[in-house]
Amino acid sequence: SLLRKQWNIEEFDFGRPLGKGKFGSVYLARDREAHFILAIKVLFKSELEKAGVEHQLRREIEIQSRLRHPNILRLYNYFHDQSRIFLMLEYAPQGEMYKLLQKHQRFDNTRTATYMEEISDALLYCHANKVIHRDIKPENLLLGFRGELKIADFGWSVHAPSLRRRTMCGTLDYLPPEMIEGKPHDEKVDVWCIGVLCYECLVGCPPFETESLQDTYRKIVKVDFKFPLLVSEGAKDLISKLLQHDATQRLPLPLVISHPWVKAYSKR
Ligand code: AMP
Repeated sequence: SLLRKQWNIEEFDFGRPLGKGKFGSVYLARDREAHFILAIKVLFKSELEKAGVEHQLRREIEIQSRLRHPNILRLYNYFHDQSRIFLMLEYAPQGEMYKLLQKHQRFDNTRTATYMEEISDALLYCHANKVIHRDIKPENLLLGFRGELKIADFGWSVHAPSLRRRTMCGTLDYLPPEMIEGKPHDEKVDVWCIGVLCYECLVGCPPFETESLQDTYRKIVKVDFKFPLLVSEGAKDLISKLLQHDATQRLPLPLVISHPWVKAYSKR
């Protein structure tokens, strides 16, 4: 099976490139025997060594391969040759949430509430397994066959940030106050991030976006944001309960799932 055997590159037919990351590219692929479709991420050992992130990659492989949840991108297995590491990943046919949001400008209540339920359920499972993602944002979320949310890039992007899509400034938009202030943090950082995500899905831009890094930092630590008129009362109530400076005051994930606005609109 995909999970047990030792794989090598000759056992796959490669299709179109799906995207490019900091350390390599991702390709659509099919195994020659069972014709199973998957995504293979190719990472160059030399690049990983240059950046000093081999240990980090090893840990992330361990984490992502043991998590099994419908809203977490599966890492089936991995193998390597002289120069490269190959990650065998679940294929997410509808691609990046980031690109879909750019195309639609913003999402409606139904789509956003469905994403909120899916991501809350996935994070509840992560936290129960002592895993904190710490880098939830549309760039790290892929979409499955039926458009269902899949958390990808596990923790990895915390240590391999940016140089992708948005500017450096954009990637800071999801940082919780305790991480900016250099305080210790726990799984409640993910709850902050889904508050920022919910806002960005409904509005089209994140709540603390400014021209400068310092201004964004200042706004985050003061939790200084406003809702445009188009945001419904139910969504405002949820986002306000997630974007709490005091991490202990943030709405627990089970109560996100049972929040009246999520219940009313989610099609999950
Ligand atoms: P990454 O190196 O993880 O940033 O991946 C680069 C890009 O490849 C992503 O932004 C996606 O557009 C695409 N991609 C990565 N993994 C997958 C996947 N499992 N299924 C579909 N597309 C993917």
